[in-house]
Amino acid sequence: MTRIRQQNVTAAQWSSNGEALGALDLTLPENDPFGANVFSVAVQRERLPADVFEKLQATLADGEALDPSLADAVADAMKEWALENGATHFTHMFQPLTGSTAEKHDSFFDPGAEGTALAGFSGKELIQGEPDASSFPTGGVRATFEARGYTAWDPTSPAFILENPNGALLCIPTAFASWTGEALDAKIPLLRSMDALSRSAIKALRLLGDEDAKRVFTTVGAEQEYFLIDEQYFFERPDLISTGRTLFGAKPPKGHELDDHYFGSIPERVLACMLEAELEMRKLGIPVKTRHNEVAPAQYEIAPVFENSNVGSDHQQLMMQVLESVARRYGLVCLLHEKPFAGVNGSGKHNNWSMGTDTGSNLLDPGDTPADNIHFLFFCAAVIQAVNKHQGLLRASVANIGQDHRLGANEAPPAIISIFLGGELEKVFEAISSGEGDPHTPASFLELGATVLPKLPMHGGDRNRTSPFAFTGNKFEFRALGSSMSLAFPNTVLNTIVAEAIDEMANELEAKTSSGTDIAEAVIELVKESYAANKQVCFGGDNYDEAWHAEAEQRGLKNLRTTPDALPEVLTDQTVAAFENYSVLSKRELESRYEVWIEQYWIRANIEAETTFAIAKTMILPAALRHLALIGESGVSAIEAEVRSLVDELVAALGELEAANADPGELEGMEMALHARDKQIAAMAQVREAADKLEKVVADDLWPLPKYEEMLFIK
Ligand code: ADP
Ligand code: MG
Repeated sequence: MTRIRQQNVTAAQWSSNGEALGALDLTLPENDPFGANVFSVAVQRERLPADVFEKLQATLADGEALDPSLADAVADAMKEWALENGATHFTHMFQPLTGSTAEKHDSFFDPGAEGTALAGFSGKELIQGEPDASSFPTGGVRATFEARGYTAWDPTSPAFILENPNGALLCIPTAFASWTGEALDAKIPLLRSMDALSRSAIKALRLLGDEDAKRVFTTVGAEQEYFLIDEQYFFERPDLISTGRTLFGAKPPKGHELDDHYFGSIPERVLACMLEAELEMRKLGIPVKTRHNEVAPAQYEIAPVFENSNVGSDHQQLMMQVLESVARRYGLVCLLHEKPFAGVNGSGKHNNWSMGTDTGSNLLDPGDTPADNIHFLFFCAAVIQAVNKHQGLLRASVANIGQDHRLGANEAPPAIISIFLGGELEKVFEAISSGEGDPHTPASFLELGATVLPKLPMHGGDRNRTSPFAFTGNKFEFRALGSSMSLAFPNTVLNTIVAEAIDEMANELEAKTSSGTDIAEAVIELVKESYAANKQVCFGGDNYDEAWHAEAEQRGLKNLRTTPDALPEVLTDQTVAAFENYSVLSKRELESRYEVWIEQYWIRANIEAETTFAIAKTMILPAALRHLALIGESGVSAIEAEVRSLVDELVAALGELEAANADPGELEGMEMALHARDKQIAAMAQVREAADKLEKVVADDLWPLPKYEEMLFIK
């Protein structure tokens, strides 16, 4: 059995941190710090000249480009506000293709003529920044002679102040593009996709008789899973430090078999950490709502209230940053990797997605009136059509090396994209498409060709936790995102493919009604055709079941198990057509992403493989040899033979890994990725297998790495 290494963090240490919380009584509404550090609409109303405020708000509401003449006034107000709140620097915060955020800080102060410092921040500095783009991945978009890129203010995502014990920083959310205008980041395509979806949806709404809505926003609310472990163990594990996951570790005697962790009481230190993290998030205007324990020991979840996709996506990036930094104040480390511990549930990020009009209606809410239901059926059918057509692209949008341990690897959800509609909704679609139902189908559903539709009783519906894409009452929940991922690309894909489906269906609707068909009848006809053509993607059963994998194959659904299998979907003709037709990403921009993601895959695989080799060779093998010497002295030869054979196994596996890690020479792009997957990752698995067996026999005080039971159960 394992001794538990002493924790380096005492209760006193973290409870003194917690005192900051005690100073603020959050039970009083006026003490709620929500949005305190945000240059919010309320702050803008107070600080901007009335005409500037009106113009800015009008611009944002209509989703139009910003009038540059407003910039100076906004910059001035923003600067004054930031200085009053202790900021000394500002940064254009952007999201390069690394998947995280980037920032370069500039001081508000310039040395003045007579040694004084002047606070300067012009409209030009607000609107445009010019970081050196040469070190960010561009996948070949940037010509070698032109390393510059520029950041452009995104006025639709509010600026905020990031606090630090030693100062504060004004952060301005920005987009990042090359001088030739290509998107080098995650935000520009997301914004373009929101526009595309709005155009298609407004066109459809007009046909459906809605004359009021001017804009449709996509919405996202993400449920973030993460692990918290004691930082001492983190720093004793070179694999966690370099790769974010444990490359070694035998299964502990106790896992989550007892089901005692999920929704269990939250340990005190962890809760203190969560409370402070939430306080920070609320100051930043992130509307956090729920928290609970997750399935695995030491795993937790946090979810905000949904927001429009752009702001929700920015807030997600911030949320991950806050979780990571606040954890350290409590002697904890937040692990956002998709699979930090083999054999233990990994972490995902459920992406709740819907579309809503500026007049306040949710297009995926079945609603109470027949007219609402017509809208609902139309938009819901469009989502089904889009997901079926672009299932491979959706899978690719959530591909990364960490995800390969979850999707398609005996863990939810599978790599096969399918939709769970829920019993009642499925019944409705089936009744529409076949004109008949089972004895439990309300008679009214069987006459859906009529102009009057019944109220759809969709609420309180059933749940299917195994589905990668589930309808949950008034939104779809895309459950295949990885915990470390930005929301931006998966939502860009969702918005774009649904924009395409809505547009195509709107065209068909127009054709039907112009030949005289009544609108409600035309929608039903259309929904019937679309559902019949796409229902192969709908599945209500257990997605983990092997039988489903066989059935899915028969249905012709894609099962793209690994990142190298999935990424080519980003460049298929139908993907390129959808992105180009709706002006979201050009072929060149897609190619650049493909290249960057392939490269990230093999570079990360290579880091894992090198780290595996180093730990096995310089930590585990020496421990095993010491143990062997110990047994040799004891003279008990039966044990010696067992350990000796495991050591031989480890040494042989190390030889294979060393060969796999050798420079493969001429390979490029996908060839490198396949080499990493089939040679390096395969060889790593052999090394790990031998090492994990050794962990079970080598004297505990000789074992050089903290074990799973320590990392997972010390809270
Ligand atoms: P559930 O347990 O059914 O998943 P919640 O209501 O707690 O239910 O929702 C989970 C997440 O879904 C939250 O982040 C929530 O804000 C988000 N959500 C709810 N409605 C929408 C919507 N219309 N669009 C996007 N996300 C939504
Ligand atoms: Mg959920």
